[in-house]
Amino acid sequence: MIKKIAIYGKGGIGKSTTVANLSAVWGSDNLKCIVIGCDPKADTTRTLHGSRIPTVVQTLKDNRKPEREDLVFRGFKDILCVESGGPEPGVGCAGRGVIVAMKRLENLGVFDEELDVVVYDVLGDVVCGGFSVPLREKYADEVLIVTSGEYMALYAANNIVKGVKKLKGNLSGIVCNCRNVENEEQIVNDFAQRIGTHVIGTIHRSNLIQDAELDAKTVVEKYPESSEAQEYRDLASSIMSNEKISTPEPMDDEEFESFFKSYL
Ligand code: ATP
Ligand code: MG
Repeated sequence: MIKKIAIYGKGGIGKSTTVANLSAVWGSDNLKCIVIGCDPKADTTRTLHGSRIPTVVQTLKDNRKPEREDLVFRGFKDILCVESGGPEPGVGCAGRGVIVAMKRLENLGVFDEELDVVVYDVLGDVVCGGFSVPLREKYADEVLIVTSGEYMALYAANNIVKGVKKLKGNLSGIVCNCRNVENEEQIVNDFAQRIGTHVIGTIHRSNLIQDAELDAKTVVEKYPESSEAQEYRDLASSIMSNEKISTPEPMDDEEFESFFKSYL
């Protein structure tokens, strides 16, 4: 069965890095994988393709009748890479770009071929239209939230949970992307339990991930023997075998404050 996953999390928390490395694992396992970057920054697929690819929105501006090859690029292990693109900073809605891109891809039959995994790297901001599109339009069946144990990352994660609940989305787990704060894994684990889900995998903080990124590669490609790559492989297989999917229950702001303060 095809898996359709949307990855959410606070800005800068590691969504794109997680999406790219997970896809690199699935591609290495001979799964047919398409990655859809839904962020106007269009940087999700850079480490898979080895360089930035043009966005669907930009390409459509220059060419009303693009071919599949103008929109869908092949990256590491033949992973299909797409960047929806979006409006210039400060104008318009990012969600629109995602809808335009998805309609084009559908018309070109991209989703008719045999695919095992579709991964969406979504804008983390709940008030932005880009947030709701993958769930509202039913492009994605399940949600993963990336967070660290930092206050702002968890605060954002809790807001995302509110949005996911409202959209009746299915949460399949929390990815703990560590920032080396005290009691981090405990805090993230307790947070996950409280909102009715589980930590589906943990990625420790490592310079090797940024080293690979500078080379426009995932750590899975550049350092396949590393413990970092192994963590992504473990996460990827937990996601594939996961059966614990729930509609999450967010905390209200007051409860969140006291939850977080109990660790200080
Ligand atoms: P945005 O919201 O801006 O799109 P993002 O959530 O997609 O951000 P990334 O771009 O994936 O975040 O990551 C931000 C930076 O953190 C990158 O330079 C990335 O290499 C680094 N990073 C992510 N995860 C780790 C980690 N586990 N260890 C070290 N660096 C990491
Ligand atoms: Mg990103």
